Amino acid sequence: IDRWNSSNLQGYAPICLGLEDFYIRRLYLRIQDCFGRPIASAPDAWFDVVERYSNDHNKTLKRTDKIRRCLNLGSYNYLGFAAADEYCTPRAIESLKKFSASTCSSRVDGGTTTLHAELDECVAKFVGKPAALVFGMGYVTNSAIIPVLIGKGGLILSDSLNHSSIVNGARGSGATIRVFQHNTPSHLEKVLREQIAEGQPRTHRPWKKIIVVVEGIYSMEGELCKLPEIVAVCKKYKAYVYLDEAHSIGAVGKTGRGVCELLGVDTADVDIMMGTFTKSFGSCGGYIAGSKQLIQYLKYTCPAHLYGTSISPPAAQQILSAIKVLLGEDGSSRGAQKLARIRENSNFFRSELQKMGFEVLGDNDSPVMPIMLYNPSKIPAFSRECLKQNVAVVVVGFPATPLLLSRARICISASHTREDLARALEVISQVGDLVGIKYFPAAPKKE
Ligand code: PMP
Repeated sequence: IDRWNSSNLQGYAPICLGLEDFYIRRLYLRIQDCFGRPIASAPDAWFDVVERYSNDHNKTLKRTDKIRRCLNLGSYNYLGFAAADEYCTPRAIESLKKFSASTCSSRVDGGTTTLHAELDECVAKFVGKPAALVFGMGYVTNSAIIPVLIGKGGLILSDSLNHSSIVNGARGSGATIRVFQHNTPSHLEKVLREQIAEGQPRTHRPWKKIIVVVEGIYSMEGELCKLPEIVAVCKKYKAYVYLDEAHSIGAVGKTGRGVCELLGVDTADVDIMMGTFTKSFGSCGGYIAGSKQLIQYLKYTCPAHLYGTSISPPAAQQILSAIKVLLGEDGSSRGAQKLARIRENSNFFRSELQKMGFEVLGDNDSPVMPIMLYNPSKIPAFSRECLKQNVAVVVVGFPATPLLLSRARICISASHTREDLARALEVISQVGDLVGIKYFPAAPKKE
């Protein structure tokens, strides 16, 4: 499997499918790029060092050969709030001076500043739940909260493509885990029906609690959750809904309130709303939002909340400011413009890629756009060729995807200009021809 532009991995599929994860990992480490280097450690694909980010959505990559100023197509900076925002950045700097970079304390013991208290309330209001609690890291929010919500004797129904933080939380909880087919409400219902009878009261069934965990936008698929259908199944079988909105909060919906707003789902029907601030808000941390009783319970029982240092004050201020902009409370219409822009940019870019003949996953309105590479040996080739033309992309392979479903994952931002996108399309088209990943005929160009 040594030539990215000629080889085809189809023949390897039956072998891989029968192998244990461990052996697939070993096999993966042996797959080579066109220069005979193992792709897992090939340069230009992963672990580049970044010298700086800038507000025109470029990043500068520090490399051993030369420093490149690149158009960044890989960042989760969906609304362009990261890097020198005219409203958010000065306020974050002020909070740094006032509170310093760290509270050096947990929320319980002096780590709750006025910013933290305001942020909990602001997030609850923004996502449409009675209360919320903010954590220092998105990953930890899932992996630490799920074990507090459910344990032995409970049942977790998890989408097959849920994020690693959810998988970790579910495994750590001690609850029984059943996986349902990705974004398939009918399969969720089938799995549920195997466990309980329809309409059986919560008190008369073999599980202490049932939680269904899904994501708003799937980060490797760019796909929107079929939330209305999932919620309907959960209501029928009296299961709780846990929704991870890491990629959807701030990015979709008329006012940026995520998939509930976009798909017309009442937030009262989603029991536990989780999200992160590392994408649309240009900050860090995560939240859980739910009923007042739920949040009160988590406050006193969740070890990550009790014993972990609270979110950094400038990060908290950044989120508060970004939400203010989204709500128009900064006195400008920038928030609404950003939301309109990310939708326009995403839909334009997706349709142009499809016209060129690429296989692009995901739904309209989603800023996440995976371009299928399939053959893992094409991963570093695609990334390297784009980089040569100063376009930085994220490429994804096993174990984040199945071995033969490698992809480049483009993330579109409201801060990309039409010129940026036109240049990116030109480069991706050229590289697509070179690497051989245009799997469909191109649409005829309009005169
Ligand atoms: N949930 C999902 C769906 C994610 O994609 C991610 C990371 N991209 C996380 C949780 C973890 O969030 P963070 O990066 O903010 O720690």
